[in-house]
Amino acid sequence: MKMSLMKKLSVVFLLTVLGAILIAGFVSNYMVGKEFNNYLVDEHKDKVNKIIVTAQDLYNDKTGFTNSNKDELLRYAVLEELYIQVKDISGNIIFDSGNSHLQHKNMMESMMGNMMQSGMGKYSNMSAGEYKEETHPLVKDKKNIGMIVVGYFGTSYLSQGALTFKMTLNHSFILSGFIALIFGLGISFILARQLTNPLVKITKTANEMRKGDLTVRSEIRTKTREIEELSASINYLAETLQNQEMLRKRMTSDMAHEIRTPLTTLKTHVEALLDGIWEPTEERLQSFYDEIERLTSLVDNLRNLAKLEQADSKLNKTKFNLSSELEKIILSFEPLYSKDSHTIMSNIDKNVWVYMDKDKLKQIMHNLLSNGYKYLKPQGKVVVELKKEREGICIKVQDNGIGIPEKDIPYIFERFYRTDLSRNKNTGGSGIGLTITKSLVESHGGKISVESKEEEGSTFMVQFPK
Ligand code: ADP
Repeated sequence: MKMSLMKKLSVVFLLTVLGAILIAGFVSNYMVGKEFNNYLVDEHKDKVNKIIVTAQDLYNDKTGFTNSNKDELLRYAVLEELYIQVKDISGNIIFDSGNSHLQHKNMMESMMGNMMQSGMGKYSNMSAGEYKEETHPLVKDKKNIGMIVVGYFGTSYLSQGALTFKMTLNHSFILSGFIALIFGLGISFILARQLTNPLVKITKTANEMRKGDLTVRSEIRTKTREIEELSASINYLAETLQNQEMLRKRMTSDMAHEIRTPLTTLKTHVEALLDGIWEPTEERLQSFYDEIERLTSLVDNLRNLAKLEQADSKLNKTKFNLSSELEKIILSFEPLYSKDSHTIMSNIDKNVWVYMDKDKLKQIMHNLLSNGYKYLKPQGKVVVELKKEREGICIKVQDNGIGIPEKDIPYIFERFYRTDLSRNKNTGGSGIGLTITKSLVESHGGKISVESKEEEGSTFMVQFPK
């Protein structure tokens, strides 16, 4: 059976409080009760001792037991609800507080009955208990002078005061238990609410996200770290989904645009040929070819991307000198750069050896250097840097080109993402190059990042671990 968190927490708290109260109640009741009983038993012994001493005082060496002080024994017997009988050495009864102990018993029982009937509910659980008699020898000056019998009921040594004390103790245990229970109930309710309220709010936000509203954010105030983290994660998720949604929409329209432009050009040109408006000159056919080439490379890139994203894209790693490999790549780009009066320079640490997939490295550098070239301003400059660092190696490709607007920086590694600047420049790019570069770098366990300022240029940094 599924139970709400609030209910569950409340029940658990309540059971804990209840358990704690019961255990504390029983233990303290037992301990206090035991001590108290010991105290009462001692008190009873004192009482009996006093009676023995009193009885011994009745004895006179010359006259034996005299009658003079028997009143005191009688007073004891009545006051302490005891049966007292004193016998001399030859067994003659010297003193008897009642006619017989049985009579005494009956008297006690009828006394109890009266108390209960008179509505003294407080003492209703006081039972007469079993009748007991103790016999003690009477000794004076080391001489046996007789016997004393003290009779009482099991509980009769519990005076009314003692009973009241025990009762009050029990009542205070019950009362404090009750108060603790109410207190615990209140606290558990507050605590459970404090925990569940934010969770309910977060669930509501998540449900709204599920329904498609990605603009909602969970705004809760809580001092519980885990709940705050959950709320932050939900917000992060919403943000990511919102970005993905935006990218998806942008990608669809970008894709349509990328494919439609060459197709439209081809279509109008072929129509013009068909209508006889245009002659199929070599120059025109070449431009057809270029458009078809663009479409083909777009499709190729798409296919490469799909291949790359199959996680197990295999790396063919070998050990090679990265420094000289980079020099070679830069050299191969020089004609292209100098054709447009751009410069490409290098600042490369010598003899850096790596264990990597050489072809993939070439592709990474090719993508970065063609981008650098594509987005340069007239007479621009690109610098390639290779540094061996403690944590690994770092390759930087720095250009002083058109730069990337700040708002676009987080997205340029997404597929088909192109900044408006690059669109205006009409470079014929498709927004896939950096996506491929990023997955190639990551497949080697590396990281790629960019720093850029519009109109000033960009620096792409690739870091590979050792
Ligand atoms: P593209 O084929 O459009 O160059 P990329 O994935 O290589 O695709 O790049 C994505 C976008 O990032 C580019 O369209 C461009 O807007 C921006 N970009 C990439 N490199 C640079 C750079 N060196 N300078 C300025 N913008 C760049």
